[in-house]
Amino acid sequence: MSKPPVSKNESTKKIQAIRGMNDLLPDQSARWQYFEGIVQSLMRRYGYAEIRTPIVEQTALFARSIGEVTDIVEKEMYTFEDRNGDSLTLRPEGTASCVRAAMEHGLLHNQTQRLWYQGPMFRHERPQKGRYRQFHQVGVEAFGLDGPDIDAEVILLSARLWQELGLTDHVTLELNSLGSNEARAAYRDTLVAYFEAHHEALDEDSRRRLHSNPLRILDSKNPEMAPLLADAPRLMDHLDDESRVHFEALTARLEAAGIDYVINPRLVRGLDYYCRTVFEWTTTALGSQGTVCAGGRYDGLVEQLGGKPTPAVGFAMGIERLILLLETLELFPAATGEALDAYLVPLDEGAEAPAMLLAERLRGASPALRLQLHCGGGGFKSRLKKADRSGARLALLLGEDELAQGVVTVKFLREARDQQRLPQDALAEALPALLTGEPT
Ligand code: ATP
Ligand code: MG
Repeated sequence: MSKPPVSKNESTKKIQAIRGMNDLLPDQSARWQYFEGIVQSLMRRYGYAEIRTPIVEQTALFARSIGEVTDIVEKEMYTFEDRNGDSLTLRPEGTASCVRAAMEHGLLHNQTQRLWYQGPMFRHERPQKGRYRQFHQVGVEAFGLDGPDIDAEVILLSARLWQELGLTDHVTLELNSLGSNEARAAYRDTLVAYFEAHHEALDEDSRRRLHSNPLRILDSKNPEMAPLLADAPRLMDHLDDESRVHFEALTARLEAAGIDYVINPRLVRGLDYYCRTVFEWTTTALGSQGTVCAGGRYDGLVEQLGGKPTPAVGFAMGIERLILLLETLELFPAATGEALDAYLVPLDEGAEAPAMLLAERLRGASPALRLQLHCGGGGFKSRLKKADRSGARLALLLGEDELAQGVVTVKFLREARDQQRLPQDALAEALPALLTGEPT
């Protein structure tokens, strides 16, 4: 077989990133690290352990858990055949993988688990602000606990995150209960009858789902469907007694903890595995991509994937949306960024090897010090210019003279202050004071 001819134009064309998949550049990564640092410490404080699963799984895992008749499985998955002909999928969400891994490694055997994860997810959606094809989630999953206490705990954990990020006044907690499987099945008939009576008002997606997955219709984002959905019978009015008691105990706990919420009877979530408690944290500051965190109870999923019946509850939050929200509201602390403390300049070639050793000594002695060593040679002037451009507070100069005397010249790049000479051996100890501007 001959290869198709590649035009010169095509072979030299710059290759660009895939639409909807973002690079995270250095000026932004500090903001992500700020967010991730707060998340990590929060998870530790609540006793949640991190789990990391592969980005690729067997397609059947997602089809069987998320549900065949959902946006994700019907039209958003990145599915491909690998070289063995197996159908694989880039994970569109984290819960299914988490359940698979926990079952596979016996983590659910006669024990409870509180887990969290973080990482990229993939959905082939129309890219727009707050909606990407590769995006990132932080999620928690708690297994083996069926009471409202653990539902309240995961919600309180998320509420504390908003508090630490300064977002408490900018997000709203929406709650609903999907009831038991039996209650939902009975409600389903009521709902289908309602939609059938208003068949002409249904859009194409909804007509298709009317019999395969009518609850999904309530999740429609089509604004033309909104009036119809507003008048639809409410699942909340068809709850089984146990689910009602569970829901009331949850809301009582949230009230006791001072967490405000609104009940949204149309909140059903876009994945099939949920039952009883479902919730979303939403904001009005991001346009239509307003859900920053979403989750609920999924007591049937472990069994559905071949395990023993195991109650479970969890949530996932979209990191890009949260970063956007923090940027929109200007809530990043001013010092989010990693300015250098010092830039060490060997003033000529002969000083380069000793400067490297001095840099290593300083890094060894002062673990918090952010020190960059000048590399790449150049003339005296250009070396000093690079020191200034590095953004460091101090330039440490090492030339022939300094080497002969065992000293370093300390130049203050950001303040009007005379330069000093300090013995190399005393430098590590003197640096904190030099950096806070105290006289030495
Ligand atoms: P939406 O209704 O906005 O499509 P979803 O119900 O599909 O969200 P989930 O599957 O519940 O979303 O995922 C949890 C969170 O992950 C969402 O609340 C959102 O913050 C984030 N998220 C989901 N899809 C995307 C995406 N394509 N790009 C960026 N963030 C996303
Ligand atoms: Mg979606």
